Amino acid sequence: MKEEIGDIYPLSKKISRFAGEAIRDYSMIREGDGILIGLSGGKDSLLLSLVLAMLKKRSPVKFRLGACLIDQSGGLMQTDETAAYMDRLEIPLKIIRHPMYGIIKEREERSPCSLCANIRRGMLAGEALAQGCGVIALGHHKDDAAETVLMNLFFGGRFKCFHPHLYMSRTGVRVIRPLIYIEERRIAAEAKRLCLPVCSSCCPYGEDSKRKEAKNTLRLLEKEAPELKSNIVHALRNLRGSESWPAGMMKE
Ligand code: SF4
Repeated sequence: MKEEIGDIYPLSKKISRFAGEAIRDYSMIREGDGILIGLSGGKDSLLLSLVLAMLKKRSPVKFRLGACLIDQSGGLMQTDETAAYMDRLEIPLKIIRHPMYGIIKEREERSPCSLCANIRRGMLAGEALAQGCGVIALGHHKDDAAETVLMNLFFGGRFKCFHPHLYMSRTGVRVIRPLIYIEERRIAAEAKRLCLPVCSSCCPYGEDSKRKEAKNTLRLLEKEAPELKSNIVHALRNLRGSESWPAGMMKE
């Protein structure tokens, strides 16, 4: 007899509840949606895949799932375990081999992470459209949001953050972030508890130094204000797009 996903990977009730709240608060998923998961092979996107696979099984709202993994090393990434995991979740996976790191090196790019993120975002939107998906799901969590707010404030002189539910007017694709209410440490602990097949990053550029500084600053500030990350994420709810956009969605 075939084992159920929930028996193989018994997702914690808390993770499921937090993700469910975010999906509901921002009206992220609609009847008939085609959702493409942006998979990196890391803990966040693997857990996101499990959350959505479980939701798909029990939600009265019907939607379909696919996933796309962009191997930015152009073919060096070991993807067998990731592919087997997605197979268990019954999510069709497309792997695209792209020479991103080579391009960054050749161009002697000063901000590798922003070039990398821009190219990846364009590729994901293209793949979503090719697969007839109107939605891209990303694994950004509460810490990512808080760090991005601080980075933009400290180094960019602006109040800015990605939104949990964004409409990209150029492509007509919506971007959703169902893990936005969940802290990174909780995701890491859950991925470890469930023995998810997390790939270690083979990126030669490492984490953005500004993000590292924002992370450290956040850690210091949290000693005085333990609710800081939650408050920042809560503040995102007050950002409103054009009046003509449905509640919970922001237009790019
Ligand atoms: S750390 Fe590497 S993979 Fe991540 S955004 Fe930067 S260049 Fe891209």
